[in-house]
Amino acid sequence: MARYVFVTGGVVSSLGKGLSSASLASLLQLRGFKVRIRKLDPYLNVDPGTMNPFQHGEVFVTDDGAETDLDLGHYERFTGISSTKSDNITTGSIYNDIIKKERKGEYLGGTVQVIPHVTNHIKKFISHKIKDEDFVICEIGGTVGDIESLPFLEAIRQFANEIGRNNSLFIHLTLVPYMKASGELKTKPTQHSVKELRSIGIQPDIIICRSEKNIPLAERKKISLFCNIDIENVIETVDVRTIYEAPISFNKEKLDTRVLEYFKIKNSKKPDLSRWKNITNKVLNSKKEVNIGIIGKYVDLKDAYKSLDEALTHGGIFNNFKINLSRIDSEELNNNNISSKLKNISGILIPGGFGKRGSEGKISAIKYARLNNIPFLGICFGMQMAIIEGARNLLDIKNASSSEFGNSCTPVVGLLNEWKKGKKVFKGNNKDLGGTMRLGLYDAVLKNNSLISKIYSMKKISERHRHRYEVNINYKEKFEKKGLIFSALSPDGLLPEIIELKNHPWFIGVQFHPEFKSRPFEPHPLFCSFIKASIKNQEKN
Ligand code: GLN
Repeated sequence: MARYVFVTGGVVSSLGKGLSSASLASLLQLRGFKVRIRKLDPYLNVDPGTMNPFQHGEVFVTDDGAETDLDLGHYERFTGISSTKSDNITTGSIYNDIIKKERKGEYLGGTVQVIPHVTNHIKKFISHKIKDEDFVICEIGGTVGDIESLPFLEAIRQFANEIGRNNSLFIHLTLVPYMKASGELKTKPTQHSVKELRSIGIQPDIIICRSEKNIPLAERKKISLFCNIDIENVIETVDVRTIYEAPISFNKEKLDTRVLEYFKIKNSKKPDLSRWKNITNKVLNSKKEVNIGIIGKYVDLKDAYKSLDEALTHGGIFNNFKINLSRIDSEELNNNNISSKLKNISGILIPGGFGKRGSEGKISAIKYARLNNIPFLGICFGMQMAIIEGARNLLDIKNASSSEFGNSCTPVVGLLNEWKKGKKVFKGNNKDLGGTMRLGLYDAVLKNNSLISKIYSMKKISERHRHRYEVNINYKEKFEKKGLIFSALSPDGLLPEIIELKNHPWFIGVQFHPEFKSRPFEPHPLFCSFIKASIKNQEKN
């Protein structure tokens, strides 16, 4: 039977529960165990798909087309295991299911309540589709003390009670702040947070303390005493220099050993951390740097392009270069200032995006990349903007645009009409926004002798999508006459998947999101190649 590890957070949000869970999962994996990580999110959205990345960070997409919390991206990158729809749940999705059932009369006249109906739903989710896993790590979003977290905490309390405390472990992650004025580390917020947790019946077994400074023995003793846990189970986590150092740092603090001791598992093999060490070393010690510009709308919040940043780092690791990333606000760009704003940039990347705001700045940057032989990678929205730029300046369709921005244009990019997945047919929809995009893995067939077929060294690829609009295939021949090649299409030949420019060193647009599949130990070929081309461009200048 699987053992369940529940990870909660206290004091403040953004302490790194996701990274801690992912690091623990990796360490257990390296000791030869099979793991699965899940995320339980207390907000009311059915999924984060309609949420603004500026508030919530990136929306991560799984193979099977779920729009999920960005922590699932960490899980995949740290464990190499692909997440699925059944690895992320929100309060909104639970209520959605329960209310649908209630309307059908499936509760047979009963009163539908948080306990037991909502909590039962959560408990079912926790162990859903768990088969031969040794460990299931469940991260509970939010902070202990939030009203909306309560049903989740109650559900995990019940779940642990039902499977037995020998098979369940509670980890609580808190903040131990450093007070500069008095030069002290403060344990009181941790004590209060644990008190809150205990008032709802959960006694943590391990406390991970996030802190700016190492936590001395005296403070560890205090936490142990007041929070009623073994002193060895007070684990510190100080800021790491790169996230890839986190598994190494948790191993040093013996987190994995404590977890195994708790479950009385003996004689497991020592984890071989050489891969993590190697990658950390490369990230920290690569001497050379390449300047990459991401031109987007959500440049102020780093998490808005989390997977993208990681995928670029992977491309850098592959080429032994550090990535010097500039986040450039597309709203500040126009044809007049572009050359000064992008002066030192060796590779231009336009990521996924939605809506008209900032699109003209992106189009200006694409024109600049095309005319000046600067490596360009356009992802999803980025590819659509490249088509608009090409239509305006290569095909001379001056009012070319996307119907996403309104109807008063020539729509070289338009609403997806219909698409298939296996035998299932989907219809385009821009009225209901949640979960109605073309989502998840779809195949694309690559054109022989194209740059893209060399990059992938494959004929057919499968990548994760998330879009509602498509490049209008009717312009294919016109574009190709001007050197803008449609170098991959969907297997039925109806949907443009990749475009590239013939007489340009490296100009590629993809309708999918390659960043979701890039992993530190399996860097994505598109990012490896884009960084390589950007280095070449930098060295030329
Ligand atoms: N807004 C565009 C669409 O829906 C692009 C989406 C994206 O970049 N993920 O097609």
